[in-house]
Amino acid sequence: MTDNPYWLAEARGPLRRRRSPGSAEVDVVVVGGGVTGCSCALTLAQRGLRVRLLEAREVAAGASGRNGGFALRGAAMPYDEAQAALGHERARLLWRLTEAALDRLASLAGGACRRAGSLRLSQGEREATALLREREALRADGFAVERVDPLPPPLDRLYSAAILHPRDAAIQPARWVRQLAAAADAAGAEIVEGVAVACDTLEELGAREVVVAADGLSATLLPELDAVITPQRGQMLVTEPLGRMLFDRPHYARDGYDYWQQLPDGRLVVGGRRDASFSTEATSAEETTEPIQRELEGLVADLVGDGPAITHRWAGVWGETADRLPLVGRLPSRANVWIAGGYSGHGNVLGLACGELLARAIAGETAPELELFDPGRFVLATRGA
Ligand SMILES: Cc1cc2nc3c(=O)[nH]c(=O)nc-3n(C[C@H](O)[C@H](O)[C@H](O)COP(=O)(O)OP(=O)(O)OC[C@H]3O[C@@H](n4cnc5c(N)ncnc54)[C@H](O)[C@@H]3O)c2cc1C
Repeated sequence: MTDNPYWLAEARGPLRRRRSPGSAEVDVVVVGGGVTGCSCALTLAQRGLRVRLLEAREVAAGASGRNGGFALRGAAMPYDEAQAALGHERARLLWRLTEAALDRLASLAGGACRRAGSLRLSQGEREATALLREREALRADGFAVERVDPLPPPLDRLYSAAILHPRDAAIQPARWVRQLAAAADAAGAEIVEGVAVACDTLEELGAREVVVAADGLSATLLPELDAVITPQRGQMLVTEPLGRMLFDRPHYARDGYDYWQQLPDGRLVVGGRRDASFSTEATSAEETTEPIQRELEGLVADLVGDGPAITHRWAGVWGETADRLPLVGRLPSRANVWIAGGYSGHGNVLGLACGELLARAIAGETAPELELFDPGRFVLATRGA
C-alpha cells in the first residue's frame, strides 16, 4: 500500500543542508535526525561542542515525522502505573521532566504546537476505573488533570468517561523537528542528510563521542540491543477536511490503541489499531497494510460516520523496551558510544528531554533524571552479553 506521510508533505524551511560531512574533526557525532538527535545536537552546540549530525534520509523522516502529533507529558504508561513500577519519587521526577520539556517544546515550536490539552477516554468499566486511578494519582501529586463529565457528542455515544490533561499539546511533528534542526544548525551544529552510517563504522566516525539516536532502528547500529529495543510499527491515515469541527484536541482510547486529532482545517488524523495484529506490526518495515488500514477506516466511521475520503496513509516505526522506558546514557558495552532511544511509542516530548539530558551528560553535567533511563539495566558491560 502507499506511504504518504501527511506531515512530511509540507514544504521545508531553509537549513544550511550539507550532503556530505565536512572533513574537520568534531567532538561528537550524532546518528539520527529525529527529535532526539536534533535536540541533542542543539544542546551540544549551545554548550560549545563541535557536533556533526548524520541522517540517512532527511531530518524527521523517521518516527519523528510520521507520528500522531500528540505531545504528551509522562511516558508510555499512565502515571499510576509509573508510580507502581518506579516508586513515587521517581515517577514524579519523570513527569516533572516531561512537563518542563513540554513547556520548552511549546516555546521553541511556535505555530507547530497548539497547547490544546489531550483527552484520555474509556470504553467500559475496566478502563473507566483505570482512568480514575490515574486521575487520583496525578491529583495527589499536584499535577493538573480534570474529569470531563458529561462527554460532548459524538464522544458520549462511544465512550463512558474521560480525563483531560490540560497542559498537553498537538503538534505538526515534522514542522516542529525541522525547526529544531534549524535551531541546532543556527547554533553551529553541522547537519548532514543522506548519509547512512554502517554498523561496523560506528566507532570510526572521527569523533571523541558517538550518539545513537535511532529509536526503533537502534539495534541495526548496535546489535547488542537486538532484544532490548525492538522495532514496532504504527499506522496512520488522514481524511479530507470534515467540514465541521468535532474534536478540539488530541484524543486517545482503548489504552492508546485508538488515537486521533482533528487539525484546524478540519482534517481528521487517525492512528492505532495495531492490537488487531500484533504479530505483523512487530516489524521495522515502514509499510502500510490493508488489514490495519481497514481497521483505521472503521475507527473513522465510528467517529464521524461513513464518507470522508482518505487523502494520506503511512506507517512509522518506534522502539519498544520491556519496561517501556527509554535507554539514555553511555552504553556499558562500548567505550565511547551513547544512546537515547526506546521511548515505546511516546517520544515526542521525552525525545526532546532525553536528547538534551544526553548532551548535558556528554558536556559533563549529569542530571538526576538520567538514572531513570540507565542503559545498564538492560545492557551488560561485555559486548553481546
Ligand atoms: C505511527 C506512530 C505514531 C506515534 N505517535 C506518537 C505520538 O502521538 N506521541 C508521541 O509522543 N510519540 C509518538 N510516536 C513515537 C515517536 O514518534 C518516537 O518516539 C520519536 O519520534 C522518536 O524520535 P527519535 O528521534 O528518537 O527517532 P526517529 O524519529 O525514528 O529518528 C531516527 C532517525 O535515525 C535515522 N537513522 C536510522 N539509522 C540510521 C543510520 N544507520 N545512519 C543514519 N541515520 C539513521 C532515521 O532515518 C531516522 O530519521 C509515534 C510513532 C509512530 C511510528
